[in-house]
Amino acid sequence: HLFQKATFYTSVNDMHALPQHTGVEIAFAGRSNAGKSSVINTLANKNRLAFVSKTPGRTQHINFFQLNESQFLVDLPGYGYAKVPDNIRKHWEELLSQYLQTRESLKGLVLIMDIRHPFKALDIQMLDWFIPTGKTVHIILTKADKLSKQQANITLQHATQYVHESYPGCSVQLFSSLARSGIEDATSVINSWLSV
Ligand code: GDP
Repeated sequence: HLFQKATFYTSVNDMHALPQHTGVEIAFAGRSNAGKSSVINTLANKNRLAFVSKTPGRTQHINFFQLNESQFLVDLPGYGYAKVPDNIRKHWEELLSQYLQTRESLKGLVLIMDIRHPFKALDIQMLDWFIPTGKTVHIILTKADKLSKQQANITLQHATQYVHESYPGCSVQLFSSLARSGIEDATSVINSWLSV
C-alpha cells in the first residue's frame, strides 16, 4: 500500500509554521464529512492515520505525514461546515489559499468529494486557487457505494466531462472506503506525482 510507512510528522495552523519546502508533498482536501480521512486511511491501510469523524469543522490544522526522507502527505482542514464562526472561516481561507497558491513542494492536490454532492462552491474555490499554479488535481468521488453502479457511473461521466471542459489536465475517479474500491486508480496517480 502507498502510505503504509506513513507516520505523523507535524501539525500547523499558521503559514509561518510550515516545514521548509523540501521534498515532495501531495495534499488532500475536501468538505468536512466528504470522506477524506477515510480515503487517506484506506490508502494507508491504517485505521487511524487521519482521524475519522472528529467534530466537524473543528480542526483547522494542516497535518503532515511523512512517507520517507523526502515525501510527505498533507491532510488539509475540511471545509464547508456551517457552524464555523467567521473568524475561523477567514483564517481557514487565508491558510488554504496561501498554502495552495505558494507551496513549492506541493506537487498535486487530491480533492475528495462525496459522490452525492460533488462540485460545491468551496470545492470550486479550491480548484480556482490551485489550478492557476499549473499543477494538477485528481478528484476522488468517494462513497460510491451509496449509489447504484449505474448511478455512480453516470455521475462519473458528468464529472469527467465537466472537468475536461473547465479544468483540462485534471482527472476524476470513483472510490469507496467501505467497499475498498478505487484504491489502485488513486495509488497510481499519486505515485506518478511522487516520482516526479
Ligand atoms: P472527513 O470529514 O472528510 O474526513 O470524512 P470521514 O472520513 O470522517 O467520513 C465521514 C463519514 O462518512 C463517516 O461516518 C464515515 O464512516 C463515512 N464514510 C466515509 N467514507 C465512506 C464510504 O466510502 N462509504 C460509506 N458508505 N461511508 C463512508
